[in-house]
Amino acid sequence: MTVDLALIINQCEDYLFPTRSFSVRQRALYYHLFRHTHLEGKSSGLFSLLPLSNAIGVAESSVREDVRALHERGCLVIEDRSRNGHLLRVLLPSDIPGVVPETRPEVQIDIASMDFFSNRRFLSVLLAREDGRCFYCLKSIRAESCELDHVSCQANGKDNSIRNIVCSCHECNTTKQAQPAADFVRSLYRKGVLSQPELENRLSALEQLTAGNLLPDRALLQSAL
Ligand SMILES: [Zn+2]
Repeated sequence: MTVDLALIINQCEDYLFPTRSFSVRQRALYYHLFRHTHLEGKSSGLFSLLPLSNAIGVAESSVREDVRALHERGCLVIEDRSRNGHLLRVLLPSDIPGVVPETRPEVQIDIASMDFFSNRRFLSVLLAREDGRCFYCLKSIRAESCELDHVSCQANGKDNSIRNIVCSCHECNTTKQAQPAADFVRSLYRKGVLSQPELENRLSALEQLTAGNLLPDRALLQSAL
């Protein structure tokens, strides 16, 4: 049996030792037991306390105490105890329930081919991308009142992709209609809704959007799938 040594050491340092409150002495004991079991292709081994204490450099009574403590914490199992020593089964971090966090396999996603309009499941993802504001007038909007808008209107072909769907307030959505988005934000500037820097910011955001550079947060998208 081969063991992935780097993985196991990482799991020991990152999860096992902190979650099971290993002392420095107990770490030394665990590594020593691991060395003489799993690295020799077995999960159990016979250990006498005196040689163990000499190997680790601590008192025999301390070794006895630590073996018992690690047994109680479910990190090793005392399978037998005799004049020949302790038969100890050493559990790897991944064998101990609740030590190594489970990682959900990441769903492969192809953002470019996804439909961001047909249902509202991705609304919160888009709203986070828009920093909680209407893409056009920059007014803060809440998820409940947020509307999804086609930047380039549907007459030009139904494009529900991330490059064409934005969050909008009700007013912008109803007044923009079929106007090109750049013309619409300029009209907002003329009405005093947007300042000059905000207009420039919106025109630049539009360019970024259509270039496919305004991408949602991948972790949020994963959780919405
Ligand atoms: Zn708006």
